[in-house]
Amino acid sequence: MRLIETEGLTKVYQREGHWFPSANDAMPAVDRVSLHVDKGETLGLVGESGSGKSTLARLLLGLETATEGRLLFGGEDVTRWGFKRLRTIRGRMQMVFQNSYSSFDPLFTVERIVGEPLSNYRGMLARERRCVVLESLDMVGLGAAYAERYPHELSGGQLQRVNIARALVLQPELLICDEPFSSLDFKLRRQMLVLLEELKIHLGLSYLYITHDLSSVSRFCDRVAVMYGGQIVETLPAARIAEDALHPYTRALLDAVPVQDPRLRRSKTGRPFGDPALPQGEGVTQGCRFCSRCPAAMPVCTTVEPALVRKRPFHEAACHLYANQIVKE
Ligand code: SF4
Repeated sequence: MRLIETEGLTKVYQREGHWFPSANDAMPAVDRVSLHVDKGETLGLVGESGSGKSTLARLLLGLETATEGRLLFGGEDVTRWGFKRLRTIRGRMQMVFQNSYSSFDPLFTVERIVGEPLSNYRGMLARERRCVVLESLDMVGLGAAYAERYPHELSGGQLQRVNIARALVLQPELLICDEPFSSLDFKLRRQMLVLLEELKIHLGLSYLYITHDLSSVSRFCDRVAVMYGGQIVETLPAARIAEDALHPYTRALLDAVPVQDPRLRRSKTGRPFGDPALPQGEGVTQGCRFCSRCPAAMPVCTTVEPALVRKRPFHEAACHLYANQIVKE
C-alpha cells in the first residue's frame, strides 16, 4: 500500500539577477520525479551532493512548493494544499536532520527540544508533554536523566538519538532521514541503523533514507532510487544493488564505496569520475544528464534523453545502453 507517492514532481528555481528571465535561467533542482514509499518500506535515495535529494525531501514535507507534478500522501493529493492544511498531515511525516547540534537551540533542555512539536502541533501542556517526551527518549535508548541535559552535554550519538526522539514524538508514519548519520563514525552509524530497524518493527514506520553512503543502503533499505541531476536514473532492490546495478552512474557510485562492505567493490580513485554536471539552464534540455561524465556515452546520448524504463521486475533504469532490452534474470 502506497504511503507517499510523487508523479512527475518538479521544482524549478529561477536564477536571480536577470532583468528579463529566459528559459536558460531556469534551474530544475528536481525534474519529473516519480517514486513512492510503501507502508512499512525503507526506500534509500542516493546520489552525490547537488543531485536534488534534499530538495526532493523538502517537497515531500511541503517545505517547498512543486512547480509541476503531483504529491500524494495516503492516497490523497496534497500538492496544492496550503500551509495550514498541510499542518494536519505534517505530524504523520517527520524529518531526521543531518546535523543535530546546529538544529537544536543550545539554551533548550532535551525535554524542551523533544517536546517542542507537541506544543506546536498538539497544543499539549507541560505535564502531559513530559510523559510523551520521556516515552520517546526511552524508545531511542535514553533514560529520563537525559531530559534535563543541554545539547553541549551530549555526545554525537546521543544528539542523534535526541533528534530521532523529537521526530518520533508525534507518532509519524514516515520518517525522512536526510544524511542522518554522516557526522558519526562507522561503529556509531551501525548502532543508529540498528536502532532505526528496531523502531521500524515496533512502530510500523516507513523510511525515506537519503544518503550518499551506499554501503549502508544495501543492508538497511528495501529498495534504492539513484538520483542524478534532479532525476531518478535507476531504482532496484537494495540487496541486489552491487550485483544488478545497470546505470553507469550507479556503477560509478558503487566503485567509490570504501571497504567496510566487502560485497561492494573498492574504487581505485575513491570517488566517481568527472565533476557533477548540474542541470542548470543551457544544455539540459536534451540528451542524458550524465553524458559528460559517462565512459559509455554514445552519439545518441547527447541528443535523446533516456527514459526510466523497467528492465527486470522491480528494476528500472534510464540509459540508452539498455534501450529496448529487458535484462534476463
Ligand atoms: Fe551513459 Fe548514454 Fe547511458 Fe547516459 S544514456 S548513462 S550517457 S550510456
